Amino acid sequence: MRNYEFWFVVGSQDLYGQEVLDTVAKRAAEMAEKMSASLPYPLKYKVTAMSNAQITQIIREANYDPACAGIVTWCHTFSPSKMWINGLAALQKPWCHFATQYNREIPNEEIDMDFMNLNQAAHGDREHGFIGARLRAARKVIAGYWQDEDVLKRIGDWMRAAVGAAFSKELKVMRFGDNMREVAVTEGDKVEVQTKLGWQVNTWAVGDLVKEMNAVTAEEIDALMAEYEANYEIATDNVAAIRYQAKEEIAMKKMLDREGCMAFSNTFQDLYGMEQLPGLASQHLMSKGYGYGGEGDWKVSAMTAIMKAMGEGGNGASAFMEDYTYHLEKGNEYSLGAHMLEVCPSLAQPGSKIKIETHHLGIGMNEKDPARLVFEGRADDAIVVSLIDMGGRLRLIVQDIQCVKPIMPMPNLPVARVMWKAMPDLATGIECWIIAGGAHHTVLSYDVSAEQMRDWARMMDIEFVHISKDTTVEGLERELFLSDLAWKLK
Ligand code: MN
Repeated sequence: MRNYEFWFVVGSQDLYGQEVLDTVAKRAAEMAEKMSASLPYPLKYKVTAMSNAQITQIIREANYDPACAGIVTWCHTFSPSKMWINGLAALQKPWCHFATQYNREIPNEEIDMDFMNLNQAAHGDREHGFIGARLRAARKVIAGYWQDEDVLKRIGDWMRAAVGAAFSKELKVMRFGDNMREVAVTEGDKVEVQTKLGWQVNTWAVGDLVKEMNAVTAEEIDALMAEYEANYEIATDNVAAIRYQAKEEIAMKKMLDREGCMAFSNTFQDLYGMEQLPGLASQHLMSKGYGYGGEGDWKVSAMTAIMKAMGEGGNGASAFMEDYTYHLEKGNEYSLGAHMLEVCPSLAQPGSKIKIETHHLGIGMNEKDPARLVFEGRADDAIVVSLIDMGGRLRLIVQDIQCVKPIMPMPNLPVARVMWKAMPDLATGIECWIIAGGAHHTVLSYDVSAEQMRDWARMMDIEFVHISKDTTVEGLERELFLSDLAWKLK
């Protein structure tokens, strides 16, 4: 990951005299520095802007600096916003309008007309807000006091979404072979996706991977085996199967890193020359931040990589997931999510036992029993996310879910599993998901919020659908109908 930063651009004008402008600049620098201590990425004070030329210049610089992941603007004083038009019209980076003020309180006795001239964010930010609305600009508006923890948390969350946007624009996806035959939802327009989201999605032959695997040395496998042993409990005598997964992981990682790819997909239908579907191999790569999608699902793979990058430390608890089966006991309804093998261990309770097991896998062309990590997902609030291609546009669907400790041990289930209640309730949640066209493959995240995904969708200019505790089927149908019309006109 790059060392991303954000730029603080403060609006003013030249009517107030140098003393006021010096005070604004001094305070803006102080605010940026203090806020940075509580934000996931540094906020760098850049300029107190007083003219069209200054604003246009700083926005040009922001556009062309790959480290700058977005701008945060604020108007300490009044800042006539016609002078912002040329700059904002050219802005190519995410924009957050932060409506705050330097002082927390109105200082009763002290307040006079000088104070009012210096501290007029309340009307400065309204003028600034108007031009954002007038330009139909994609922006996030956050209001509140700049030293408050909840306000800083919201700015930090927005920054992570903006980093997701920057990461998306440079993301490369390696496809080993094609999509699973006949499946519709894993298809998509790769040209449209590259235009909108920046993803470079290309294919590599499985034969190239097999060639790479054959060149892996015993020493390389020994080193990765030591890493597996340090992190996981080996619950099988079939060490050869684990070593085979290590060989697959090393070969895939070499190819991914050589091409600069942070996401990959494969399919059980195309493993020619391989003995096992990569299970443990894909899971361990995911734990390092690589995105993955099964059955050639490159969209979910890319989304996994992006949401991992948006999370804590640039590799949060976000993972490729699949809705498998339901528990429909009245009043105690749950979804069970898993995959054939490939569930990322970032979903496990930190410190819990993660086992390496080997089992027969009937589906696909596996000659040998593949090794995989088996564990339970942790109990916590989460979201599931699906990006679908509606033909002519992309739709991002997010559903709030509540993960629980699986309500039964399921000792014969040979894969990692997560159990959850979907919002607003399981049946309505399923109806909403199906009406919206959400896939069976998702990214499940404990780390990224629905609001962050909404911010990300706005930055990428794609449709966003949120299924929450307040969603009704009727309301959603109406929203989708109107949204369909709007996106056709857009
Ligand atoms: Mn699948």
